Amino acid sequence: MKKISLVIPCLNEEETIPLLYKELNHIMRRIKKYDFEIFFIDDGSIDKTLELLRKISKKDKRVRYISFSRNFGKEAAIYAGLKECRGDFTAIMDADLQDPPEKLIEMISILEKEEVDCVALYNSSYKKYGLIRCILTKLWYKIANKLSNTKQMTGARDFRLMKKEMVDAILSLTEYNRFTKGLFSYVGFHTKWISYDTPNRVKGKSKYSMKSLIKYGLNGIVSSSEAPLTLSVYIGMIFCLISFLAIIFIIIKTLIWGDPTTGWPSLACIIIFVSGVQLFFLGIIGTYISKIYLEVKERPLYIIKERSKKGRK
Ligand code: UDP
Ligand code: MG
Repeated sequence: MKKISLVIPCLNEEETIPLLYKELNHIMRRIKKYDFEIFFIDDGSIDKTLELLRKISKKDKRVRYISFSRNFGKEAAIYAGLKECRGDFTAIMDADLQDPPEKLIEMISILEKEEVDCVALYNSSYKKYGLIRCILTKLWYKIANKLSNTKQMTGARDFRLMKKEMVDAILSLTEYNRFTKGLFSYVGFHTKWISYDTPNRVKGKSKYSMKSLIKYGLNGIVSSSEAPLTLSVYIGMIFCLISFLAIIFIIIKTLIWGDPTTGWPSLACIIIFVSGVQLFFLGIIGTYISKIYLEVKERPLYIIKERSKKGRK
């Protein structure tokens, strides 16, 4: 019998795990053709998440888990999950039921019948997240798609079901600064996109504040594009041209009208403006250097503190 692995990253999800597990059981009963493996990654939770996972995995042989020594982030948790699971099909889903398990039925049937390697879901609308987040998200996709050669689906979620070959391709990318959404599009493969209206979290709060989302968005651009670095070359060229024209203008003006010492306020403004632009690009270069620094250290993406008794399959 073919196997489907479900990779579920969890950070402080004691309220949602019982509801998710119940829902998954219901779905697994309906899909009889496949063996299931549910793999939870406890990403350094400080609530009763790990305790719950121990309990569930003890009574259900399909459930396995690993627990990180601290919070390493969702991207590391996804990588760990994909590495530990070797199903014929693998799904990544959130623990909060925002990725409804019943969608798996449709996703499996598409993967079986159509010539695709992956079925992925995207948000049909961001309206419920509020105006500011909606505008920022759309803007992010516009900029990211302009700057990078690999295109991203606007509103793409991490919820997807993939064939083994695609999982292997993702795992072959071992970089430290992981932006999984970008990696999915980088590896290629044929993906079918389904739109859906993402439901609200069943319980608990989102782990991402506006500040962490902005950081995540900037990291996404830096990890999938070098364009911000080359931008300084173009802006620098434009400034050189402007200053060259200004020099010619000043020389001609001085020859015709002499050189009274006026204009220092405008000079001060120009100096401040140009230093601002220089600092901005130094900042961009610094951001890339910090990413290189993290890469060359070659530290592990995560550290496992505990794993379910069933061990690695
Ligand atoms: N998550 C994680 N590590 C983190 C942050 C989140 O494993 O550092 C998990 C979280 O438990 C959930 C999923 O990633 O299963 C999505 O998180 P959340 O629902 O908070 O994000 P949102 O849906 O608001 O984008
Ligand atoms: Mg969520």
